[in-house]
Amino acid sequence: MALLSTRDSAAMATVLAKANLTAAEKRPRPKIVLVDDDARMVRSIHDLLADQDYDLTMIVSPREAIEHLSAHRADLVLLDLRMPELDGHQVMDIITARNFDVGVVVISGERDIDAAIGAVKRGVYGYLRKPFHPEDLLTTVAQALHRKTLEAEKREIQYQLECSERLYRYLVDTLPDIIYTIDTEGRFTYINDRAEQLLGYTREELVGKHYSTIVHEDDLERARYVFQERRVGDRASRNVELRLKSRNALMEERYFDNTLLTISFNATALYSVSEDKNRRELFGTYGVARDITELKRAEQRISYQAFYDVLTDLPNRVLFKDRLDLAIIHARRNSTKIAVMFVDLDGFKPINDTLGHLKGDQLLREVAQRLRLNLRRGDTLARVGGDEFTVLLPDLRNPKDAAAIARKFLWSLKQPFQLDNQLVHISASIGIAVYPDDGTTMEDLVRHADIAMYQMKTEGKNNFRFYDVSMEIAANQKVVLAQSLRQAIDRNELEMYYQPQVDAGSGCIVGAEALMRWNHPERGTLSAGEFLPFAEENGLMLTLTDWMIRAVCNQLRVWNDTGLGVERVSINLSPQCLDRGDIARKLLRWVAGAGISPAQLEIEITESVCIRNPQQALSQLHKMANAGIGIAVDDFGTGYSSLAYLQQFPVKTLKIDRSFVKDIQHQNGHYPVVLAVISIAASIGVNVIAEGVETEGQSLYLANAGCTTMQGHLFYKPLPAAQFYEQFQQVRLRRASNDATWAP
Ligand code: C2E
Ligand code: CA
Ligand code: CA
Repeated sequence: MALLSTRDSAAMATVLAKANLTAAEKRPRPKIVLVDDDARMVRSIHDLLADQDYDLTMIVSPREAIEHLSAHRADLVLLDLRMPELDGHQVMDIITARNFDVGVVVISGERDIDAAIGAVKRGVYGYLRKPFHPEDLLTTVAQALHRKTLEAEKREIQYQLECSERLYRYLVDTLPDIIYTIDTEGRFTYINDRAEQLLGYTREELVGKHYSTIVHEDDLERARYVFQERRVGDRASRNVELRLKSRNALMEERYFDNTLLTISFNATALYSVSEDKNRRELFGTYGVARDITELKRAEQRISYQAFYDVLTDLPNRVLFKDRLDLAIIHARRNSTKIAVMFVDLDGFKPINDTLGHLKGDQLLREVAQRLRLNLRRGDTLARVGGDEFTVLLPDLRNPKDAAAIARKFLWSLKQPFQLDNQLVHISASIGIAVYPDDGTTMEDLVRHADIAMYQMKTEGKNNFRFYDVSMEIAANQKVVLAQSLRQAIDRNELEMYYQPQVDAGSGCIVGAEALMRWNHPERGTLSAGEFLPFAEENGLMLTLTDWMIRAVCNQLRVWNDTGLGVERVSINLSPQCLDRGDIARKLLRWVAGAGISPAQLEIEITESVCIRNPQQALSQLHKMANAGIGIAVDDFGTGYSSLAYLQQFPVKTLKIDRSFVKDIQHQNGHYPVVLAVISIAASIGVNVIAEGVETEGQSLYLANAGCTTMQGHLFYKPLPAAQFYEQFQQVRLRRASNDATWAP
């Protein structure tokens, strides 16, 4: 909104005050100044006017008269012409020059016609020749005063008009809409200032120009239709949406909702000075153009959002289904094949949780970008959920082609993503279903691709699988599994296994990791990886954790009682447990209840725990650490935490993730991640344990790199408590008999 100039605000104030003004106004007594060098003459005029309601002042010197007029307001001067120093004409000239607002009546004995003409030329209100009849004096003065009043009123009205004109112009120019008038030829006759702000044209540039100058080419036809219609004399207003062009190519085109009114300009209204009311009527068009650009954009956005995912600009589920539907019809008719892929990112959630949603979004956009590059024309990549994408490959010659695309997808994600200054690795699990082999309807194809993807997740991720009927059976079994897991505790089907952690140099068992097993009545022993994800998803984790803590504490108590000196058993705590504020208290209560030493327990947490809810988690961890419970960071290196976080909480041990150990192919190779973890551990002074050690080569490489505590199938698998006890005893006996050559 434009600021009001002082002129404008004064005008506004005047117009607004106008109504009160006339009512309040009461005219004062007219002030009349009598000027004649002849004192008797002045006196006699005074006496003649004395009984009128005038305020009279007598002055006998023209100079004094000028001085008086510059200091006091007066309505009328009765002026003699012939005077010493200054004559009457000169006095009048000064009055004009100095802009005194006073009328002059000349009272003169001058016979000369030039004197009278001189006075008239100077605009006298009256001319009275001496000697005069007293009646004539009264009439002349009264008439002059009347004229003076009329002129003042006229000036006042003119000023009022100017003010209101300025006010209306201000109002029109500061309106949010463009207002214009167009003549019969389609040329602008008026346009307000708003046009300049919105379109960049000045008023001068547009007035006189044809409206088509500013109408978008594609809308000209429509514009013409509306602008011409007025000739039929339609007086109703019409609304039409037009795009108007900006003067500057860099300014975008904007949308306007034009309200057009056909109006007739009355000639007398246009030329207010003209008195001729019979002039013929002139037609023109008055228009109000409202800027609806934002509204149009919102509309476009909404219709875009119905079919596209705004984050990645990929088609969404709706559009994908539509295309798949069409592709199926086409494939049926031409007996061709289609592949439907379900692509789900591995471990996206922890990245999103730890790095924040902004970076999570950035990652999704970049993933979408990379995936898209692998497609042919006609293929569709859609985003159908958080980190879920679907792909439609129509006209498939051979299912192998789908495998090739899946491989390309996986390959294109291999290179880490650079999110600002953070490098992030991500992979995907892909399921593929083929029409017509794996399904003939849209729903079946998508569901089967989803099941195949899920199967891939449980088989180790970062790869693809074609759908297979057996998977569906497995998928159904999982649903049943989740249900029966609820009853597993009551039925006493859970059991803790203990996987020894050894010192690779001596072969000593230095500790154990407690891992949960489910002795399923039909399916046999299920390892944690097979059922804990369901526990997490189904809110059973807290119950299972309670059970697990109790079982481990009791087990340690039993071992302590039999004199088995297990130094340390570690338990895994899911992030959900640390979100809950009472895990430390609970754990310590069970430790105390079982009468074991807190130092015998270690908890394993993943890096993401502390970043999800640092304050809450930190205080829990500190409570446990202060009580003497060790803290190990599990799966170290797969998360995205920084060292700064690590230093904030009381870590005792870092566990090198199985996936990094798995990468070690040869003892003489070079595996920088493993080396980095070991050196980080050394630099912050914590222990390091390698897990998932399966080969001699891995063990040697790790030992050489400085990590001697290990856990893995090379040494022991997770064992039931009784077997663990046996193994532990054996190793101790061997050590006691000083058997130097140790083998697992
Ligand atoms: P994790 O903490 O990384 O545990 C190590 C996993 O690696 C265990 O799988 C273990 O059996 C397996 N493993 C050990 N050595 C080797 C090896 O040499 N090669 C291979 N391929 N695997 C090896 P598991 O028991 O299936 O546990 C899976 C995950 O479930 C664990 O991963 C842990 O995060 C979680 N978990 C296990 N038990 C519990 C529990 O009682 N409570 C909680 N909250 N989580 C548990
Ligand atoms: Ca663990
Ligand atoms: Ca681990």
